[in-house]
Amino acid sequence: MKRVIAVANQKGGVGKTTTAVNLAASLAATRRRVLLMDLDPQGNATMGSGVDKSQLERSACEVLLGEAKLEAALMPVEPGGFTLLPANQDLTAAEVRLLTMMAGREIKLRNALAPLRESFDVILIDCPPALNMLTVNSLVAADSVLIPMQCEYYALEGLSALLATIEQIRVAVNERLELEGILRTMFDPRNNLANEVSAQLIMHFGDKVFRTIIPRNIRLAEAPSFGRPVLFHDRESRGALAYLALAGEMIRREEEEGRQPAPSEAAKEPTSDRSGAPDSGGATTRDSVAATTPDSAETKTPDSLAATAPDHAGGSAANGGTRQAEDAADPSDPAPLPGLEATHPGN
Ligand code: ADP
Ligand code: MG
Repeated sequence: MKRVIAVANQKGGVGKTTTAVNLAASLAATRRRVLLMDLDPQGNATMGSGVDKSQLERSACEVLLGEAKLEAALMPVEPGGFTLLPANQDLTAAEVRLLTMMAGREIKLRNALAPLRESFDVILIDCPPALNMLTVNSLVAADSVLIPMQCEYYALEGLSALLATIEQIRVAVNERLELEGILRTMFDPRNNLANEVSAQLIMHFGDKVFRTIIPRNIRLAEAPSFGRPVLFHDRESRGALAYLALAGEMIRREEEEGRQPAPSEAAKEPTSDRSGAPDSGGATTRDSVAATTPDSAETKTPDSLAATAPDHAGGSAANGGTRQAEDAADPSDPAPLPGLEATHPGN
């Protein structure tokens, strides 16, 4: 897991904000210091975190324009356990101002973030549904990009434009920018097309597709109207479990990357090391969430929560049944879906 993660997809309604807010809360539940930056003038992540966007003294707008320090605009989110940089429609004006600037307009966010980067373990940026200057600022400030995707026909077309933008930014200004992963959202395993698109994604992007799948879940949709992450709305819901599982998957990946031994050391590694075990998908994910979630949290441990998941129809997200949905699609399918032929994941 990289420190600064932009949650981006220029398509609207694919689950960016839902992912940003609920991943922030899930990572915070593992005692990580999390900052969520709302970079969308719609201010949905702000409202979804329980902050009234019409009452902001300072927001992402002032920070981006250099009129306020980031620190001065941050707010604690309770319940949630993370810190928020709020936003509202003022951000549209900021974007217009940025566009008229001659130099340095795409590094504003990176500069504003620099003094506080080390104060957080993870910084999530909720991007607007456009490849505009706000998204460019986010990608320039980020170490990696998490792409939420609904597995539907046209979703793939937009993906190649987004990947091309990421590549351009990598080459021009931010060579460390990586693809954090592609997240399948609002997934319905009974939908054949969803399974087909899912299989295509895995064929093209392999490990870059998160094993965790976010199911369509009503609790996820209604939590924002209570101004809360789903973990604090219905912690046993499939939506809450899925985002805990995603946090666990990201943490596990990070641990595995950090633990990559040098080849000579590898020989000495005890064979019982879990990193050497075959990937068992959701089970491992669950373990690592359980291992890092504070016991004192008022939520039940994810382990016991996860144990309740298999009974639910589409509970594949949090219970290791992800492969079920993937296997359901035939990889030897006919014509490739539009847009994917031209894509290059880059890493
Ligand atoms: P974006 O930020 O990409 O525009 P949102 O996260 O706002 O997308 O999601 C769009 C709509 O879909 C919102 O009303 C949200 O509550 C709903 N939604 C998102 N993810 C899910 C899900 N997994 N299950 C059900 N509804 C969802
Ligand atoms: Mg949004």
